[in-house]
Amino acid sequence: MMQGLIDQFAAVLGNQYVLTEDQEKAPYLTDWRKRFTGKALAVLLPKTTKEVASIVKLCASNNIAIIPQGGHTGFCGGATPDNTGKQVILNLKRMNQIREIDVANQTITLEAGCILQAVQEKVAAQDLLFPLSLGAEGSCMIGGNLATNAGGTNVLRYGNTRDLCLGLEVVTAQGDIWNGMKGLRKDNTGYDLRDLFIGSEGTLGIITAAVMKLYPMPISQWTTLVATDNIAATIALLNLFQKRANSLLTGFEMMTQESLALNEKHFPQMANPLKGNPPFTILIELSDHESEEHVRQLLEVILEEAFAGNLISDAVIASNLSQANSFWHMREHITLAQAQEGANLKNDITIPLSSLDRFINETDAMMRASFPGVRIINFGHLGDGNLHYNIAAPLGTDPKIFNQNNEKAIYELVYTQVERCQGSISAEHGIGQLKLDDLRAHKGVVAHELMKTIKKALDPQNILNPHKVVSI
Ligand SMILES: Cc1cc2nc3c(=O)[nH]c(=O)nc-3n(C[C@H](O)[C@H](O)[C@H](O)COP(=O)(O)OP(=O)(O)OC[C@H]3O[C@@H](n4cnc5c(N)ncnc54)[C@H](O)[C@@H]3O)c2cc1C
Repeated sequence: MMQGLIDQFAAVLGNQYVLTEDQEKAPYLTDWRKRFTGKALAVLLPKTTKEVASIVKLCASNNIAIIPQGGHTGFCGGATPDNTGKQVILNLKRMNQIREIDVANQTITLEAGCILQAVQEKVAAQDLLFPLSLGAEGSCMIGGNLATNAGGTNVLRYGNTRDLCLGLEVVTAQGDIWNGMKGLRKDNTGYDLRDLFIGSEGTLGIITAAVMKLYPMPISQWTTLVATDNIAATIALLNLFQKRANSLLTGFEMMTQESLALNEKHFPQMANPLKGNPPFTILIELSDHESEEHVRQLLEVILEEAFAGNLISDAVIASNLSQANSFWHMREHITLAQAQEGANLKNDITIPLSSLDRFINETDAMMRASFPGVRIINFGHLGDGNLHYNIAAPLGTDPKIFNQNNEKAIYELVYTQVERCQGSISAEHGIGQLKLDDLRAHKGVVAHELMKTIKKALDPQNILNPHKVVSI
């Protein structure tokens, strides 16, 4: 039966786009963090929406589960199959056409397999900005960004992927094509199907194309690193920038001393230019549409006010683009430094800004008391209240054994604190298979049941990414 089905896939896609040999399938089977490795009947590489629809119909009639996949950079194992060898991976990388850039409407219409960085570069050539930006932008794809509702470094000003999306094209679990490709900023025609598919991590439909918002390219961007002593001062600094710079504030990222020490260990070229390894290093970016002079002066005035109010103890303004890039590289390399250091326990949480000070102080103290020697690699998009509150094993211990013995208790400690502070256990990385049980425990009974109802209604056969996000 399986060979017959593979022949049918090949009849739709062409032989070379149905990968069945172990060697060919291997690159698609393990997630970026190397936490999950699965098996797949085949890896399928469609080129068109119609091909996706035909594949879904074939899978539905043979009861074969489909794992949609983009760049496979997700952190929660959402795009990795299970171990049965009966699921197929549907990787959308060949669907990489930009269908239209509409300058008047400030939108781009593009296919799900477009790589994020390629999209940024394509629109920049027309003096437009696609503001979604994250560390994986060289490999992650628009379909994956939409399916995870990715965040990144510009959420503070432009919102997350959901906020950037105006229209979607989706292949449903029945193999029908929903054309919701309108580039409208207003459309109150009943239930918002688009928002249902965004962030659904491939469990409700396969996103094949989208209409995304574009913005005018800023004339000038200024980036600065500043030193703060504590979170209360850091939040006050954020509020000062929000008040004085308002929508010109496009980045506000936080890195702790411990995160940057790990960076320097693995990437010695990334030394912090601020004096004396401050407790908190904050990366701030302003983007301006008026003039370089205007934004530079504004930045200097705000920094002076911050010094006068004892909110910061040091500041370095990037003197050119390459220095600004080096500041951003420092921030982005923390994730890579952690990967080099070995297995760690990742937390991607959001806390209301007003509770951040309490959360960090209390949780740090509880963590260090309960797990002596533990390293807290805390950094993140602080402007959005989003912390990557990651925990690494004490130096000199085997991280795998430490994680095995302590993972449950560490997550429990963090999630209890998150709940106390009315936060979320997943800010931007999603749920996938990694946090399936955590979602059940923390989403709330009513919300979790509603999610299951939606899943059952849209995918009653449970063939789209089963046992990810919710189990039915
Ligand atoms: C170094 C690094 C830095 C990162 N920084 C950030 C960050 O700042 N912010 C952030 O939010 N994330 C970040 N991530 C996580 C990751 O890059 C994002 O989740 C990204 O959006 C995933 O895109 P992808 O194409 O790799 O999707 P994949 O990993 O391939 O898939 C992710 C999920 O989406 C589903 N999916 C993929 N494509 C489709 C589709 N076309 N239709 C339906 N479902 C689909 C998959 O089944 C899976 O459940 C980072 C990752 C790395 C490695």
